[in-house]
Amino acid sequence: MKRFLLIISLIGAQLVSAQNNTSYWQQKVDYTMDIDMDVKTYQYKGNQELVYTNNSPDTLHQVFYHLFFNAFQPNSEMDIRSRSIADPDPRVKDRISKLSPDEIGYIKVSSLKQNGKTLKYHTEGTVLEVQLNKPILPGEQVTFKMKFDGQVPQQIRRSGRNNKEGVALSMTQWYPKIAEYDFEGWHADPYIGREFHGVWGNFDVTINIDKNYILGGSGYLQNPNEIGYGYETEGTKVKRKGKKLSWHFIAPNVHDFTWAADPEYLHDTIQVPNGPTLHFLYKNTPEIIENWKKLQPKSVELIQYFSKHIGPYPYKQYSVIQGGDGGMEYAMCTLITGHRSFGSLVGVTSHEMAHAWFQHILATNESKHEWMDEGFTSYISNKAMSKVMQSKNPNAGAFKSYVRLATSGIEQPQSTHADRYARNGAYGAAAYSKGQVFLAQLGYIIGEENLAKTLKRYYQEWKFKHPTPNDFKRIAEKVSQLQLDWYLTDWTQTTNVIDYEITSVETINDDTTITLQRNGLMPMPIDLLIEYTDGTKELYYIPLRMMRGEKPSDSKNTKRTILKDWDWAHPEYSFSISKTKDLIQKIIIDPKNKMADINKNNNNFINK
Ligand SMILES: [Zn+2]
Repeated sequence: MKRFLLIISLIGAQLVSAQNNTSYWQQKVDYTMDIDMDVKTYQYKGNQELVYTNNSPDTLHQVFYHLFFNAFQPNSEMDIRSRSIADPDPRVKDRISKLSPDEIGYIKVSSLKQNGKTLKYHTEGTVLEVQLNKPILPGEQVTFKMKFDGQVPQQIRRSGRNNKEGVALSMTQWYPKIAEYDFEGWHADPYIGREFHGVWGNFDVTINIDKNYILGGSGYLQNPNEIGYGYETEGTKVKRKGKKLSWHFIAPNVHDFTWAADPEYLHDTIQVPNGPTLHFLYKNTPEIIENWKKLQPKSVELIQYFSKHIGPYPYKQYSVIQGGDGGMEYAMCTLITGHRSFGSLVGVTSHEMAHAWFQHILATNESKHEWMDEGFTSYISNKAMSKVMQSKNPNAGAFKSYVRLATSGIEQPQSTHADRYARNGAYGAAAYSKGQVFLAQLGYIIGEENLAKTLKRYYQEWKFKHPTPNDFKRIAEKVSQLQLDWYLTDWTQTTNVIDYEITSVETINDDTTITLQRNGLMPMPIDLLIEYTDGTKELYYIPLRMMRGEKPSDSKNTKRTILKDWDWAHPEYSFSISKTKDLIQKIIIDPKNKMADINKNNNNFINK
């Protein structure tokens, strides 16, 4: 969620030819919304004008809007799902079922017009189904005008009023939001638990609210000198007349718009050199203030880290806002809970800020490819934490968690829709841990330098678009000149595991034959280290035949020998060295521990 000056590049993006086998296009939205909020009843009235551009090659006969707040009603799909899954989210459990009518959430559409003509529509749970009077032709632009009434639910999951830390309004997924239509068709998913996919465009939002409330969120405030509260230009005297203030925001080139409000927010800003202004909004609670002050220079380091290792943060502003129920990424901002240890506060900020890239600049469809935003985010944010907070082994936790999942019997492929895992735990480990391992292990497969280049080129080619898993794979292939389809397919679409073993080390005459075995179905190239009794070491690299090439050596000090390819179908592989066994101290598969082998016990040979 950060896009300024990018309207031009967005238009450009639609002309760019593609990584898929069709040419790339994406729909476009221009929202103008005006909201009147009653902070006593938590009800609000909204007017929405949506200019919708159909850049697809298809004629659209219907459209869909998400009405996310309808999830917070007894017997909604989110409620039923939470009460029937084996391991419910402790924040949700049966809480939705207990909401009274004045505590539920809703969005009720009271009128909808297409180019001035009234439309027929009806609401099915969290989705508004709309039959168009006139189809929208390819390349055509139409204007939808809508009136709606909303009620902010008691805070249960992500959005809502009065979260457990007393933040009044966490306004996420709060407006009727048109569903994305892309090369796969409509994505009018019901809101059951998680993950989003939105249309790129521009948001112009005016929020009329009690003048004592302080807001933060997506977009640049257009009238800072009428608002004050730390937004005004230095030296401006702000007089707030009347009972309400009109906060006017513009968020260019984003795919969502979020805001939060509280009468007790403190508001600090810090300027990133040659970068955006960071805003911090947090409750005036004495015990959290010190941590929130210390967080600010750390956040500067974090955003600099991500800008350096992925690509420049493209907006002028990013806000860290106390709100919600943990941490969640939004356009140009995040909502996080604020009562945390300092390490946890920096950790959650690092994670959510990394999502500014992996979701809000590189907008994968998280419902279908949840591992691409959670996994990539976890990978880069843990690396940033090791730099900024000197935390150790950025990938160790993810590898452990993945191996636990792979051996648990409850694993489902990463290509499972985010809502359709049998267990929340299996979703979490697949999306976050296995997703992080996907990237970390890609460094093992193509080399760390190639991985670093891949991330940057991915940003360059796919920013402000909706990249798919294959788009990412193609970038890695172009950078490394290695074939990677086997990796993407096996890792993300199956639960095949990696398990390689050293089965024998035999000397005949003066040569020693080393035999390895592939026990798992998942193929991998093999790094093998031999340590000799005289203290010297040698690396052997066994290329995987289907990669059609070798990764560059990343061990400058150890001699590396490239052996003949291992073809996947053969479970066994042998090679010989011209030394006798008594000269060998140790042989290790994957000495740097970068391959997610589920059984490391059989990866070593130790000469006793
Ligand atoms: Zn995340």
